[in-house]
Amino acid sequence: MRGMTFISPSLMTETQDLAALSAPLGMTERHAALEIGRSLVKGARARASERPYLDAFLQEFGLSNQEGIALMCLAEALLRIPDNDTADRLIAEKLTSGNWDSHSGRSDSLFVNASTWGLMLTGRLVELPDELRRNANGWLRQLTQRASEPLVRQALRRAMKIIGSEFVVGRSIEEALHRSATDPSLALCSFDMLGEGARTDLDARRYYDAYVAAIEQIGRHTDGSPHERSSISIKLSALDPRYSAVHRERVRERLVPRALELARLAAARGIGLTVDAEEQDRLEISLEIFAAMAGDATTRSWPGLGLAVQAYGRRAMAVIDHIAELSQAHGRALAVRLVKGAYWDSEIKRAQERGLAEYPLYTRKCSTDVSYLACARALFAVSDRIYPQFATHNAHTIAAVLGLARARREAIGSTVDFEFQRLHGMGTLLYDEARRQLAELPRVRVYAPVGPHADLLAYLVRRLLENGANTSFVNRFMDESVPVEQVVSDPISEIEILATVEHDRIPLPTHLYGTARLNSRGIDFGLRSNIEEIQQCLRKTLDLPSPVSRYVTPDGVEAAFRSANLAFSDWRHRAVDVRAEILERAANLLDQSRDTFLALLVQEAGKTAGDAIAEIRETIDFCRYYATAARQLQGRVSVLDGATGERNELSHVPRGVWCCISPWNFPLAIFTGQIVAALVTGNTAVAKPAETTPEVALAMTDLLYRAGVPRDALHVLPMVGKEFGDIALKQPALAGVVFTGSTRTAQWLNRALAARDGAILPLIAETGGINAMIVDSTALPEQVVDDVSSSAFGSAGQRCSALRLLCLQADNADRILEMLEGAMETLVVGDPQDLTTDVGPVITTSAAADLEQHIQRMCQRGRLLKRAAISSNMGLVPKDRFVAPALIEIDSVSALDREAFGPILHVLRYRTDDLPQLLDGLRANGYGLTLGIQTRLDGTRRALFEGTLAGNVYVNRNMIGAVVGVQPFGGTGLSGTGPKAGGPHYLNRFTTERVLTINTTATGGNTALLTLE
Ligand SMILES: Cc1cc2nc3c(=O)[nH]c(=O)nc-3n(C[C@H](O)[C@H](O)[C@H](O)COP(=O)(O)OP(=O)(O)OC[C@H]3O[C@@H](n4cnc5c(N)ncnc54)[C@H](O)[C@@H]3O)c2cc1C
Repeated sequence: MRGMTFISPSLMTETQDLAALSAPLGMTERHAALEIGRSLVKGARARASERPYLDAFLQEFGLSNQEGIALMCLAEALLRIPDNDTADRLIAEKLTSGNWDSHSGRSDSLFVNASTWGLMLTGRLVELPDELRRNANGWLRQLTQRASEPLVRQALRRAMKIIGSEFVVGRSIEEALHRSATDPSLALCSFDMLGEGARTDLDARRYYDAYVAAIEQIGRHTDGSPHERSSISIKLSALDPRYSAVHRERVRERLVPRALELARLAAARGIGLTVDAEEQDRLEISLEIFAAMAGDATTRSWPGLGLAVQAYGRRAMAVIDHIAELSQAHGRALAVRLVKGAYWDSEIKRAQERGLAEYPLYTRKCSTDVSYLACARALFAVSDRIYPQFATHNAHTIAAVLGLARARREAIGSTVDFEFQRLHGMGTLLYDEARRQLAELPRVRVYAPVGPHADLLAYLVRRLLENGANTSFVNRFMDESVPVEQVVSDPISEIEILATVEHDRIPLPTHLYGTARLNSRGIDFGLRSNIEEIQQCLRKTLDLPSPVSRYVTPDGVEAAFRSANLAFSDWRHRAVDVRAEILERAANLLDQSRDTFLALLVQEAGKTAGDAIAEIRETIDFCRYYATAARQLQGRVSVLDGATGERNELSHVPRGVWCCISPWNFPLAIFTGQIVAALVTGNTAVAKPAETTPEVALAMTDLLYRAGVPRDALHVLPMVGKEFGDIALKQPALAGVVFTGSTRTAQWLNRALAARDGAILPLIAETGGINAMIVDSTALPEQVVDDVSSSAFGSAGQRCSALRLLCLQADNADRILEMLEGAMETLVVGDPQDLTTDVGPVITTSAAADLEQHIQRMCQRGRLLKRAAISSNMGLVPKDRFVAPALIEIDSVSALDREAFGPILHVLRYRTDDLPQLLDGLRANGYGLTLGIQTRLDGTRRALFEGTLAGNVYVNRNMIGAVVGVQPFGGTGLSGTGPKAGGPHYLNRFTTERVLTINTTATGGNTALLTLE
């Protein structure tokens, strides 16, 4: 891309990052900001009757009570539900779940008190019957019991639209411009076209066209300089479905030209265009795009190009420096909208899931406030070429920014041009008050979302979260029960009295599991430096020998068992701590050898880089989790309660030599998980890795030896499974079998064990499943499509947890299928050594041929809806190992009678009335591994959980990637025996229980009893 590249600074600790910001305000400025901020709040409170009624409503129904959450859930889902039955059920569930009586009389607002429900029912502020005032709960129950009552549904839909329209200026740009022209408070807007995150090329095209039309219209209907007239805000995620740092080339080819076109059009029409700030892992790539826009010579004289910068981001100051340099380098004026940031909660979650070393954001609100002011100061310092736009609804922030502006004015001896911004529906009273009290208040622009109600939901939820959170200024500033001094306080003083800048209840992602164990380290794929490092590692082609050349001869099996049996008595007597430390050492070694294993997994097993990294993390987690679990299980005996004079001790002792048989689809994680579970509990192991992936297994075995596992305690024998099984299961030393693979092989192992004379041995088997996801019409289609795509096509469908059967409620099936088919068009199917690949090859050419046959067979029973395309870049992998992801519609559960282990998704439509039969059908196949549920109805979620057998059930998310110790994994029925891998009971099965009972009185009487005082 053209322009300067942003080099992301590596994050230090949060304390250091915050300390690196230069003091934003001097003592006098700090006092002034407090005084002015408090005066604004007092002034606004004195005019409480003028506050928009929605403010009062949101204050009462915030996020701290069940009713507020129920209303948020309704707001999030109700408007998109196409069928009345489901809408009624959602309404009934949410309205009967709250304690609405408790809100009666709590607010001084007429609206909240008496007319909340009036508004919902009639769309107008009306007085409601006495009965409602006295007994809101009973009245609601009565109302919603008649669930088919269209009045309730209509009223609530209308109410949600009213809540929504408080935050939206118009359903179309024409309507929005008309409102802007007629309502003085909306005279200066930055219009935002609702809807975010294109999932398909078609979506992206639609959003692009909407931006073009909006720019044209805004240009036509307003005049003045770019800073004085209404402008447009754009989201880069709307312009391409694969907008991410990993897809840099595609972004350069498709997204950048679109962004440039929009900027050129805005420049030609003389209006401002701001690029909104989105997720932190898109920060670097967004800056590359912005640099390309800033470097566009054709728009150089236009000062309207702007970027939003999130102060909660710990790289915010570096971003501002970068933009200042861009402006200097290209000799053009730019604009920066400084915001605090809208995605704080989801960013924290994402960083934890990804095991990042540091949060990319500050973890305390006061740190974000200080960062905001430091960035504001930096912006004023370059205000000769950067036009600062301060987006906030916080009285202290407004006051402090005005103080900084004053200081700048005095320093340079001339005026400084800047503006404030607020969101439509928020901050009205505060800015009115500021205008009244402060002569120096500059222009205030309103961020004005435009779009139909259906596109509103994601935006609306963010606003409700913002208004409802009790750390949020808007949530508290009109609440008389919170003293003004608390609402407006000095963030610098707040930080000074903190014991730690880092939030003490938000552990670093690495320390997510407290003192029990470390979380495995993940990769931030938003950073180009990381991407380049991984790409380099992927490009190195390994010279792998053919798997068969690694096979040992069958006579090795007997020798291995003999050796493992001899090693048992020594290994079992090592302290559990010693064995656990070996596992922890292995985890650390694996972490250090990540690149080696990444290359191996990609080139031997055909994994994509993302899958390979996830597998390495899972392996590390297994080692650490089982180390901790073994210490708990065997670190000390459990003394059991009983009669006095007797001591009862329960202990868990190892069984002997375990036979570990693992599959090729997780050649590292499952292979290692089985072995280390056996070893850490004091058993020895003879393991057979999958036929196709011996190299990964041997490299890991070597690592385990280096970590301290004795060579005779672990024997790894790559060879043909049947040959191994025939001998291994007859070995006298065998103490148990742990197996992951097909149900058929598990049954064979079970029979072979049963045929043995002597002790009855345990079998732990994890097998396959015909996994379903059930989606009702309350689900969010975009989320469904993301989750379905990763669950069905990720890892080329070669996970036992993968989604095979998607069950869609008929009412919204078309919408979801259309989006899913579009998303399939954007999948990259090809060379696993290419980081952009989503779907790699399947394991062998014969597996691919079987899958193609399955597709043909199912197409005869059903209908092929879509096949994705295979990229021309297949790298070193033979062409006939690729299976293009397929989507096939069938009309009954029974049509799918076997697990097809590849990227093939079957779809079934169901009507709500037929749900019981659907569940019968799912149970009838006998499998019970994973189940996905997408619904906003708690009742449906409960019924589906109860009505199915699946061992792992995932609600409103994808259904793959169980995390060790967090989602213990394993199925029921034909899907496995349990106990679950990575769960609290797994290790028990590798041991046998012994109880020691000692009559302590036998040696001279019950001393313990006699010495009681
Ligand atoms: C005109 C306009 C445009 C906007 N555009 C964008 C955009 O492009 N991208 C975007 O992300 N947001 C955008 N926003 C949303 C904006 O981020 C929020 O409205 C803003 O954060 C609220 O800040 P405040 O000063 O009004 O309120 P305050 O109550 O003072 O601050 C609330 C904010 O503090 C931060 N915060 C809360 N808790 C913590 C914590 N524990 N640790 C650290 N920080 C915390 C969060 O950012 C939260 O939103 C925009 C807002 C406006 C007004």
